[in-house]
Amino acid sequence: MEIDILKDFSFTPVEKSKIDTFDFENVQFGAKFTDHMLVCEYKNNAWQQAEIKPYAPIQLDPSARVFHYGQAIFEGMKAYKDVNDEIWLFRPEENFNRFNKSAVRLAMPEIDETIFLDGLKALINIEKEWVRKGLGNSLYIRPFMIATESGVIASPSNEFLFCILLSPAKSYYAGKIKVQIAEYFSRAANGGIGAAKAAGNYSAQFYPTKLAQEAGFNQIIWTDSTHTKLEESGTMNVFFRINDTIYTAPTSDRILDGVTRKSLIDLAKKEGYNIEVRPVLVDEIVEAAENGTLKEIFGAGTAAVINQIEAFSYKDKMYELPNMDNEGSYALDLKDKLTKIQNKLADDSFGWTVKI
Ligand SMILES: *Cc1c(COP(=O)(O)O)cnc(C)c1O
Repeated sequence: MEIDILKDFSFTPVEKSKIDTFDFENVQFGAKFTDHMLVCEYKNNAWQQAEIKPYAPIQLDPSARVFHYGQAIFEGMKAYKDVNDEIWLFRPEENFNRFNKSAVRLAMPEIDETIFLDGLKALINIEKEWVRKGLGNSLYIRPFMIATESGVIASPSNEFLFCILLSPAKSYYAGKIKVQIAEYFSRAANGGIGAAKAAGNYSAQFYPTKLAQEAGFNQIIWTDSTHTKLEESGTMNVFFRINDTIYTAPTSDRILDGVTRKSLIDLAKKEGYNIEVRPVLVDEIVEAAENGTLKEIFGAGTAAVINQIEAFSYKDKMYELPNMDNEGSYALDLKDKLTKIQNKLADDSFGWTVKI
């Protein structure tokens, strides 16, 4: 590995690691980063030499396109350390492929696999002390790309910066959440950029989500353009359990193709759950809540894995879900099984985990 680092990446180590001052007991998600980052510039139609260097501010021209036209994409993934101190990624090719799909949609250059995946492995190898063992501990990985060419000209940039940041993470029980079904605002449009992990999708969500939070909710369940189909919960894919069947919407250009979502679908099938991928209507969920057949709703994404929903509102009416935690909750069972695979505490029959 050390030889690969020298060959493919230039490496400038920090003078002194800040790991001794990092409080691994009280970790705030995504707030602090490890000693080094990977950066790689794109110019003259080519990716340049990737560099691993001390985590530090980056300098950009104030007219850089990213500030004006939001040409920016990112990924979110995690690394886990097992009981033998080996470090594992979870389905990293999925994130690599999705990153390049996002790049194409935002008129950005695709990144080479050696820079994204080998670069990530080299970076984590340098930072392995920052990955802690034990269920719940992980290293959150944030690859991103921004348009850096100067000039407030409304056309795609010809220069970009790719970067990978690492942030130690700890799972914490955030509690169940209350959500509001979107009746006016939309996260994504037909033919828009909803399927890309684009920075702009998040800024589009902030204001409606703020209004929902002021009204006492944690998140919004996003709907399609007619506000009749349920699509995502906040920044997570969403699953509904009616009686003994789990439903989740098919991906589309409005729905992000989540790695957690597709893993849960495969895992649920293997575990013998009934799971159907088909459009989920607001009306059928309201009806199921009214007649008592709606058992669970949960969001799925890398950061929290599964987030249980305890209530939703629609047309100013609140619908409470039953507490299934001690009655065979599908959400809790699937979360337990998936996190054990990710942490190498259960057999990975799917071959999802990749050793660094
Ligand atoms: C990242 C993201 C998800 C979850 O994707 P994972 O690959 O499971 O982390 C779901 N919805 C949106 C809008 C997202 O940005």
